Amino acid sequence: MAENLNPFEIALTQFEQAADLLKLDDGMRKILRSPKRALTVSCPVRMDDGRYEVFTGHRVQHNVARGPAKGGIRYHPSVSIDEVRALAAWMTWKTACVNIPFGGGKGGVVCNPKEMSSGELERMTRRFTAEIHLAIGPETDIPAPDVYTNAQTMAWIMDTYSMTVGHSELGVVTGKPIALGGSLGRNEATGRGVFFTIRRALQKLGMELADRRVVVQGFGNAGSVVASLLHAAGAKVIGVSDSRGGIVNPAGLEIGEVGAWKAETGSVRGFREADDLTNEELLELDCCVLVPAALENVITSKNAAKVKPRILAEAANGPTTPEADEILADRGIFVIPDILCNAGGVTVSYFEWVQSLQYFFWEEDEVNRGLEKVMNRAFDEVTFAAGKHEVHNRLGAMVVAVDRVASATRMRGIYP
Ligand code: NAD
Repeated sequence: MAENLNPFEIALTQFEQAADLLKLDDGMRKILRSPKRALTVSCPVRMDDGRYEVFTGHRVQHNVARGPAKGGIRYHPSVSIDEVRALAAWMTWKTACVNIPFGGGKGGVVCNPKEMSSGELERMTRRFTAEIHLAIGPETDIPAPDVYTNAQTMAWIMDTYSMTVGHSELGVVTGKPIALGGSLGRNEATGRGVFFTIRRALQKLGMELADRRVVVQGFGNAGSVVASLLHAAGAKVIGVSDSRGGIVNPAGLEIGEVGAWKAETGSVRGFREADDLTNEELLELDCCVLVPAALENVITSKNAAKVKPRILAEAANGPTTPEADEILADRGIFVIPDILCNAGGVTVSYFEWVQSLQYFFWEEDEVNRGLEKVMNRAFDEVTFAAGKHEVHNRLGAMVVAVDRVASATRMRGIYP
């Protein structure tokens, strides 16, 4: 039978495994499985050539028992309600796993941003914001950037929302430009959080970071920061990649120079002191730490027996399928699961939201210190839960997260 790659079904499988361990009753399972609210809207937009186009968008709030919904907005041709529901559920578990006072949400618009002008993207973003403005807000649901949305997109959302309510509302989105109330350190936060969890995992396994071989798939916002921080801390980053393919140098890559090469040519491919290889070959390189930092479903039942790291650090969301998880666990590979590993981004989003609500802004080292504390504590709680229940770390992380959301739901009771 073909492996199931439907993201919502994968999210539900992971939830049910945790619910079994926690012995949750049927009623609680039904509540936690179901997205609280899903809004689908049509956004008519005048294109540059005068035509009208209608874009479909979704905003899903999966669970708000522990605080306002929190999660990014994605612009991509393959956005679907199932994908948005899955990503919203993962946000609920992620915010609970690192214990920040948010629930989970996600949004998406079906579009091809690569074929749209900046003006078209702005008009689409503003109309989408107007269509969902009743559902979002600093106390209810706080969007952030995701695939193909960025600080500029957040500025447009913040401005449109502010125009609707009649005053500037900084707290309605995170990932804003610094000049509009964004947080110092937010850009690097996901990569920095991944770095902190890798360092903690090495410590736990009694290993030094110096000279350890590292491979990073995806040299974007998350992957390039992890690669730079690991390189600066003395690890040997031997391979990196992007959508066009990867490069390898067993003696270690100069990550600063790779970044400059990518900025100049648009890809890491062709970097002078390295050999080119495919993304599939890259994943199977002999290394101590493998960091998937690109897409979902890259480690599947097909290659899980062939990857060689001691530590798999999931910077990407959903890079490993449930079938692959079992194979990795049998092989004793130490997985830092996505809802823990890449939670640095949402953690600093939380710091940004707090700063926005208070109109009081922190120094960057304060942000980074706060992030390190949250990531280290969450890492210890997840590995403790995994040890206590004798399960792999993903299930350990899900147990921590689902338990927190179930407890909050129980304490609040069900309205009315
Ligand atoms: P990004 O767009 O900045 O970078 C993605 C990178 O992946 C690019 O280098 C791209 O070339 C590469 N890529 C695309 N297709 C690929 C393929 N088929 N094979 C190999 N590489 C490919 O995105 P990002 O923000 O760095 O996000 C990467 C992952 O991290 C996603 O799964 C995202 O959901 C997750 N994540 C990001 C954040 C964040 O704050 N940026 C937070 C949590 C999770």
